[in-house]
Order: sequence, then structure tokens, then C-alpha cells
Amino acid sequence: MNIAAQRVVSIHYEVKDEDGVVVDSSEGRDPLVYLHGNQNIIPGLEKALDGLAQGDAFDVQVTPEEAYGDVQDGLVQSVPMESFQGVEKVEEGMVFTAQTQGGPLQVTVTAIEGDTVTVDGNHPLAGKSLSFKGEVADIREATAEELEHGHVHQ
Ligand code: ZN
Repeated sequence: MNIAAQRVVSIHYEVKDEDGVVVDSSEGRDPLVYLHGNQNIIPGLEKALDGLAQGDAFDVQVTPEEAYGDVQDGLVQSVPMESFQGVEKVEEGMVFTAQTQGGPLQVTVTAIEGDTVTVDGNHPLAGKSLSFKGEVADIREATAEELEHGHVHQ
């Protein structure tokens, strides 16, 4: 069986950024399981995996456009400290869920100056080219329920 739309795919993988730093990996964990052709994973990786068979290795470079997108300046905002009600101490690196017009958005605190907090809603890997290396662990047909939901049930 080969990887195609509507099939459930398991992969072991390692992701490196442009500097060769490992940013994510399935090592020591269960493989990543996803429903192919449903945009459950980044487009560049999904495209590269298409047609591979169980046991096949992959090693692919993905541009930011095909990964987590470009950095959008509009997602970086300054907000007053008082908007963090209930938080004892706001610190750089903290992640919050902000309610936006487009729905909930994960933002990271990137700077604090006095009472002004800068938050960044870009994905931490936005604007980065990534390299994915790994192996296809398993491929199976999706169940009717999985297809209906557009994701894998485990
Ligand atoms: Zn479901």
C-alpha cells in the first residue's frame, strides 16, 4: 500500500531548522499518525510523502510557504500589562491563548517594557525553512468515521 489521500499514515520523523537544530522529533515516542490529504500536517511534508510505501525513507527540505508560513508583522502586538489579569507574573517566553476575531490564537510573550507587553502570534517556526527526515512506519485505510471527521482516531 502506498500513501494516498484518505489513508492513515504513521511516520517517524525528525525536523531541523535552517541552523540544523532539531526542533521536533518522534524519537522515543510513538510515530506521528495523520490522515493523508486532509491538511493535518504541513503541505510541504504531505506532498513529499505522497506515494511512498511502508519502510520508505524521506528527507525533504520545506520552504516557509510550504511549512508554517511567513512571519506576519500584523501578528506582533503590544498590549498593556493589565490585560493579563489573573497572571501572577508575565515573563518572556510565556504562551497564552488570545481571543481574536479569527478565533483563539496562541501568542508568545517576546518582550516586556514597563507596562507594555509584546506578544507574537506567529507560529514559532514561521518564516523558517525546515528539513524533515524519517521513515514511513505504517499505512492503512481510514475508517468511515475518520473520513467523516477529517482526522485520525486512535
Ligand atoms: Zn473525530
